Amino acid sequence: MQTTELPDAGGHFGQHGGVFVAETLVSALQTLRDEYLRARSDATFMAEFRHELKHFVGRPSPIFHAKRWSEHLGGAQIYLKREDLNHTGAHKINNTVGQALLARRMGKRRVIAETGAGQHGVASATVAARFGMECVVYMGAEDIARQSPNVYRMKLLGATVKAVHSGSKTLKDALNEAMRDWVTNVESTFYILGTAAGPHPYPMLVRDFQAIIGEECLWQMPELAGRQPDVVVACVGGGSNAIGIFYPYLQHESVRLIGVEAGGEGVLSGRHAAPLTANAPTGILHGFRSYLMQDADGQVLATHSVSAGLDYPGVGPEHAWLKDTGRAEYVAIDDDEALRAFHDLCRYEGIIPALESSHALAQAAKMAPGMDRDVILLVNLSGRGDKDINTVAAISGITL
Ligand SMILES: *Cc1c(COP(=O)(O)O)cnc(C)c1O
Repeated sequence: MQTTELPDAGGHFGQHGGVFVAETLVSALQTLRDEYLRARSDATFMAEFRHELKHFVGRPSPIFHAKRWSEHLGGAQIYLKREDLNHTGAHKINNTVGQALLARRMGKRRVIAETGAGQHGVASATVAARFGMECVVYMGAEDIARQSPNVYRMKLLGATVKAVHSGSKTLKDALNEAMRDWVTNVESTFYILGTAAGPHPYPMLVRDFQAIIGEECLWQMPELAGRQPDVVVACVGGGSNAIGIFYPYLQHESVRLIGVEAGGEGVLSGRHAAPLTANAPTGILHGFRSYLMQDADGQVLATHSVSAGLDYPGVGPEHAWLKDTGRAEYVAIDDDEALRAFHDLCRYEGIIPALESSHALAQAAKMAPGMDRDVILLVNLSGRGDKDINTVAAISGITL
């Protein structure tokens, strides 16, 4: 089977993916899948999605040739896909617009979401306001304390933020709580999931909504650079921005695809969020099977990364499959390397990148110097870094 024809009817990408949820959600997920498949082949729905992307999100996002940084590195040419210029400052809005349109099509007036750093919560609250829906966002109590500006943003947009006090009080606990809400309120409620993970059909539909990123690159790169890139690089948390730019390139077999995980303090230190690079075993979490950081008893391990958006112990099932097939390669970039790339992009190009995106930038910076000057690296700049300036300042010993 061709990679692009996946997942199969059960939501499998090879041995990964599937549906591992409470009985009450099985039929809700089937209904969602059926409705999504109808919507995908409905020209009116797709036209409305494109209209929202253009007029509300601000697409197409440009591609920018980072000439000064490339010259400084002294090798390959680095191009940036500017998802940081989208409304709300990252790629996440592409997916929340798509899912909000689906919610409206299904007659749901209440949406829920989980969030870690608050980026997906803000993107969900944004589309809920845009479409006049009630919105509840689950967020770990620990994250609420660390990300107060995003909590206030969600409130300004009319959302209710519910603190989750269980477990480590972070993203994975918020995800559990959102699923619990969905089980209870499945008739009235649409669950807007934030990354290309979770039970089928979420990994498929999030991928399809985010694929606009790569689809635009397919016509923008020939326009700007005269041809397609040699390498596409993207950071991987759950995997939505990476699969969004990779997916349209899967059939372009000469294009190398590199996913960059959060290496934290180094993969060998054990303090990281890089299940693919660390060769983690398969496991089941949040409704799907994939590679998952866990101990010998199957207990999910604590993760670490300077970037909250990459701090997840699992990875979307399609990336696990792309690793198995060898079509994509996965590497890790540690905190220090990401921070260096963050500062470099600020100083050489006048762009403050998200710390998540800085992992992909750092990988490009690692590869470029050893390459010919006519090699093209395309990096998905998944978001802007304004949200991260307090973190960076604190690491640099500066009090704002
Ligand atoms: C959330 C986030 C990510 C990580 O999520 P993916 O689903 O892996 O894309 C990456 N970059 C930014 C800017 C984010 O906000």
